[in-house]
Amino acid sequence: MLKGIGVSAGVAKGTAFVVSCGYRSAIPQRVIRPSELEGERRRFDSAVARAEAELRALQEGVRDRIGASEADIFGVQKLILEDASLRDRVLRTVEEKRINVEAAISEAFEDYTRGLERAEDAFLKTRAADIHDVGRRLLAALAMEPDCAGPDIPDGAIVVSDELLPSVTARLQLENVRAFVTARGNKFAHSSILARSLGTPAVAGVPSVLAQIKTGDRVIVDGVAGVVFVNPESSIEREYDRLAADLSASKEKLRHLVDLPSVTLDGATLPLLANVNKFSDTEAALLYNADGIGLYRTEFAFAIRSAFPTEDEQFEFFERAAERMHPRKVMFRLVDLGGDKILPYFPLPPSRNPSLAERGIRLLLRHADVLKTQLRVFLRVSALHPASILLPVVVGVEDVRQVRQVVRQVQSELSAAGKQFNPAIPIGAMIEVPSAALMTRTLAKEVDFLSLGTNDLVQYVLAADREDETTAAYYQPLHPAVLRLMQSVLDGAKSAGRELTICGEMAGDPLHTALLLGLGLRELSVAPGQMLEVKDAIRRTRLDDARRLAAAALDLGSAAEVEALLNERRPAPAS
Ligand code: PEP
Ligand code: MG
Repeated sequence: MLKGIGVSAGVAKGTAFVVSCGYRSAIPQRVIRPSELEGERRRFDSAVARAEAELRALQEGVRDRIGASEADIFGVQKLILEDASLRDRVLRTVEEKRINVEAAISEAFEDYTRGLERAEDAFLKTRAADIHDVGRRLLAALAMEPDCAGPDIPDGAIVVSDELLPSVTARLQLENVRAFVTARGNKFAHSSILARSLGTPAVAGVPSVLAQIKTGDRVIVDGVAGVVFVNPESSIEREYDRLAADLSASKEKLRHLVDLPSVTLDGATLPLLANVNKFSDTEAALLYNADGIGLYRTEFAFAIRSAFPTEDEQFEFFERAAERMHPRKVMFRLVDLGGDKILPYFPLPPSRNPSLAERGIRLLLRHADVLKTQLRVFLRVSALHPASILLPVVVGVEDVRQVRQVVRQVQSELSAAGKQFNPAIPIGAMIEVPSAALMTRTLAKEVDFLSLGTNDLVQYVLAADREDETTAAYYQPLHPAVLRLMQSVLDGAKSAGRELTICGEMAGDPLHTALLLGLGLRELSVAPGQMLEVKDAIRRTRLDDARRLAAAALDLGSAAEVEALLNERRPAPAS
């Protein structure tokens, strides 16, 4: 039995399939068959040709617009690309290690740059950055190929990996995956959120998993207790068959809530919205009678592609989602990249601390083409459906003002092209960074609504990485510091007269419902799979009791004390 962190509830049994995805890289890595060698060589040569063409165009463009000496940087990068020893090294690694060309490039370039970074000479250090840049360009060129999907996952597999990045997870043949087990990761990592929205059991943070499980092993994954059994005895298998049946029976017990209103014991009706990561979640949201979509994480639609989707492609799938939800509102969040959300075709500079590197709206503002395309899409959708736009990782008012300026620009372009849109489309800010939380009242005046993203807020308030298994114990959504900050966010939103939704994962835990209502939250957005449990908790809550509970929690000194208080006051479960 291997111990880890249960990050997506449910149990599953099946055959292990080990996928090597690499830490913090969206670089596909796999073992290749001898018959694939020639194909990998061809892929390398065409990626080099593509990267060379790009560098040539860059060199010429910069020479014309800026100057010859500035353009030389790209000339140097072209020379690196043409270096025969580099080609030999990459292809030798492919042959000797029997790995795909992306994995070999990553290895070869990392070796090169690591050596140069250690050099005393400043000139050589600069070359390290160029070599890194060339490596990323080659990987981006490979990612543009139409056939760079993930490995073939056999039906009914339990996927075992070091770490699963969202961009990799989203590319797997998810319909074939019965469960996930990873060495790294934590409950609030995006891959865990994705696993929960797929309803796929998952256990993360099992340190020795790659040494203990081989492809073909028989595995049981218990995403509730956070344990994994490798080649278990038949008595354990029988035990788990019984547990799986119990779990589905307890889910069945809540079914009757689908058609009941989301109303407290004292008669307050509270909208219950759904968090959506991919189109099929809208179907689940409808199935559970969601009042709308409080968070549409658009990045997953990008992660399954090999290049940025065009405006028309995006319009097609986002309009379809809004159409399905009509007349309910849909809050589309602008694509939130950075941190652990990396796209293979949009390489970001390496960072020692990706959560603190450029991400969210700031990254988009520097990539105006990506931002403007998406704004055009949502504005066009708003002509037909009640769509709003949510800005990720807002830090302060300047972020919002800059986006508003781009929105105005896009609106006049759409008008000139005779395209319809809602000129007053609501624009909201995610409150998920302490600075934004502390500035809520000021920020609220610049936007039409707010959304509390506790997944990031907790990591930044408590200095505990949401994706790292080693900080899992310190990542405490119930910490009184988090609750006090939430209280001040609520006060700020109220005094500015702005609606505030909570869409962080903590809203999906029924143990937290009374506390959140007591703090003053009136609109919750949760994963579709958690809607019934949360509705059940809302229907068992009296707002006066909830206020007293929140006041008591705010006075406590630790997350453990708050949790004990919530457990003590937990309403009796459904009989
Ligand atoms: C959050 O940070 O709470 C949030 C909802 O956004 P994400 O989980 O996508 O970072
Ligand atoms: Mg976030």
